[in-house]
Amino acid sequence: MNQKELQLLVESISIKDFQRPFNHQATFNSRLKTTGGRYHLNTHHLDFNLKVLETFGMEEFIGVVKHELCHYHLHLSGGGYQHKDADFKRLLKQVGGSRYVQSLKPKDQKQAYWVYQCQQCKNSLYRKRRFNTARYVCGQCKGKLVLKSERVEM
Ligand SMILES: [Zn+2]
Ligand SMILES: [Zn+2]
Repeated sequence: MNQKELQLLVESISIKDFQRPFNHQATFNSRLKTTGGRYHLNTHHLDFNLKVLETFGMEEFIGVVKHELCHYHLHLSGGGYQHKDADFKRLLKQVGGSRYVQSLKPKDQKQAYWVYQCQQCKNSLYRKRRFNTARYVCGQCKGKLVLKSERVEM
C-alpha cells in the first residue's frame, strides 16, 4: 500500500463508518515503532505504521485507522477525544476500532538463551542470564551443571 492508497482508505472509512469526511493528510511514518498510528492535535494529520499492516494484516490495520479517526472526529467536533473519555470509548465501540494495537515487539525480537545441561540426569536448562556453574546444581537431581551451548535463539 502506498501513500495515495492509504489516503483513499482513510477517506473511505471516514465516510462509511463516521459519515463525515476526512479532510486532512494520512501518511505512513516509519518513525512509529510500537504504536499503530498517531493523531496530531495541531495539524489534524494522521500518521500510520506500515508494520501493523505487514505484521497483522488488513483487518487489524483498519482497526487502527478507525481508532485514529475517533480521535480526529471527536477532537474536531469538540467531543472527548482522549482514551479515557466516555465519548471516545463509545465511538470506538460503535465503529469497531481497535482499543490498542497488539505489541509489535515480541514477534520480531527473538529471545536468546544460555543452555545448561546436568551431567547426571541430562536435564537441559535455558536461562536468559549466564550463571556460574560452580554455584548452582541441577534442580532435579542436584547433579553438576555444564554450559552446553551459548546463546540459542528461540
Ligand atoms: Zn489513541
Ligand atoms: Zn540433574
